[in-house]
Parts: sequence; C-alpha cells; structure tokens
Amino acid sequence: MEIIKERTMSNLHLGLQYLDKRMKLPIEDRNRLRNMEKGFQGEELFDSIVKQYLKGEAMMLNDLLLNVNGNTFQIDSLIITPTKVHLFEIKNFSGNFTNVEGQFNTQHGKVVNHPSIQLKKTRTLLNKLLQEWENDMHIEANVVFVNPTFFLYQAKKTDPFIFNSQLEYYLGTVGTHKLFLNKQHAYLAEQLIQAQRFEAPYQKELPLYTFDNLDKGLSCPTCFNLTVTRNQRTAECRTCRKREPLHDVLRFNIRQHLYLFDQFPLTSSIISDWVGGSVDKRVIARLLKNDYKRTGHSKGTVYLSDKK
Ligand SMILES: [Zn+2]
Repeated sequence: MEIIKERTMSNLHLGLQYLDKRMKLPIEDRNRLRNMEKGFQGEELFDSIVKQYLKGEAMMLNDLLLNVNGNTFQIDSLIITPTKVHLFEIKNFSGNFTNVEGQFNTQHGKVVNHPSIQLKKTRTLLNKLLQEWENDMHIEANVVFVNPTFFLYQAKKTDPFIFNSQLEYYLGTVGTHKLFLNKQHAYLAEQLIQAQRFEAPYQKELPLYTFDNLDKGLSCPTCFNLTVTRNQRTAECRTCRKREPLHDVLRFNIRQHLYLFDQFPLTSSIISDWVGGSVDKRVIARLLKNDYKRTGHSKGTVYLSDKK
C-alpha cells in the first residue's frame, strides 16, 4: 500500500489552533475547533489502522477537495485497488446512536446529519467525475465509524457502514486480489491530485483578532501552548515536554505570525514583540536575514518573502 496524498490539517483548523492558545475564542469557534479536532483525530486513527492492516496493491489519497459541474465535494479517504475505487467517509462519533426511519440520533436525542445521505451525495459526484474522465472503475463507498466506543442500534446488514471492530477484516479483504495496479490506476491518482481545489480563504472564517489583543510569547511547535522555556540554544515546552533547537521554535513562531498577519511587515521588532521579548532581537534579525528576502535598508528593515 502506498500513500499518494498524506492528510494535513486544514488551514482553518490550524488558524483556530493558533488563536486558541493566544486569545479566548468565542464559544462557537471553540466548539468548531473541538469538532475539527475530534474529526481529525478520527481520520488519523483510520490512517493508522489502514497502514497496519491493508497489505498488497493499493494507493491511498486523503483529504480530496474536488469539483464537478460546479459542485464542490470533499473526500476523507480514497483507496484505489486494481479492481475498485474505495471511498470512505470517516466519522468519529462516540457513544450510543440510533438509526430509526432514516434519522440518526445521539443517545440524548440530538439529530445529526445522516451519514448515509452524505455518503450517497459524495459517491454520486465522484461517479460523475470519473464518467467525465471516461473512467468506468467501480466505486465502493462506506461510512467508517472509527471510534471503538461508537455503537449503533438498529443497524442493518445492508447499511454502507463499517464499524471499528470490522475494520481489520474489511481491510484484509480489500488487499486480497492477485491483480496489480497499472498505468491507468496511476493516471487516475494523478488526475485526482491535479483536480484538487484550494480551500476557501481561511482568514475570513477565523474570528476577529488583532495583534494587540493576542497573547504574546513563544509558541510550542508541537502543542502551540505559550509555555516554552528557553535556554541558550534550546527551548523546552512545559506542557508537552518537547525540546527543540531555539532556532526551530523561533522559525515556527515567525511562520505562525505570517500566517495570522500576512499583510503585516515582517521586522525583528514585531517578531520580538510576538514572542514576548523572550529572544534577543539580534538573534531574530539574523534568522530573518538568513531565511527571508530583505526589502528596505533602515532600522525598521522589512523582510517580506521566503528565500526559497
Ligand atoms: Zn508543547
């Protein structure tokens, strides 16, 4: 099994993560972030199970954002085997759910979007796209309930559902065929990568923030908390205990600043404020000079673009 496209956190998810550690997020953004975190953890769990149990000829593409006839749709995971295209919608629901008369409910009676309906829509759109590309590969579509604590009452054998306890067996069957992937399969993977849409601009989706109202300090590149203690050349996070070279932590903080304030000039003074004055301005200036193109000569030198 080969991973053609790795999963990455969406820009919006990343932006909310950064802000969450530097301000008090409005309640709706906090909830949105928690949902995104839960979804992403479920997807990562699915990926690790696939890596463990799917042997043999297969190509995996994660997080596809595609468009057909003006309809944009998202695919959590797609696995191309010699005989089929497997489409997976991944859900990280936990606890007991019921599925009665086409309605999906949590144990507290809250109605959630029916995963089958969403799956059907995605499958139809993928099918249209493949037809457009004159590809007649069969699509097998399933919702994966990846969380081991999830239980569904009134599940039917015919539902396109795979539960956590069934995954190992299911993935075992996906890999058992004596055929090989060929140029056509590789071409399809390439077409899917080429057809990728860009995410909508994330800045507009983020809550309002200004440089002044964000907490300053060195953010940890692993957990994003502002709990980094620095020594001469290294920095250690008091939350996740990760220790890294100070330069790497500083580079991460510069990228984070650029990400949240892409219209701002990049100067050693601004970055010094951003990291709460914890790093000598000369160290910052040297790093900026090394990594970014300089535009301007005065004290307030502005570093704009990446050298790479
Ligand atoms: Zn940390």
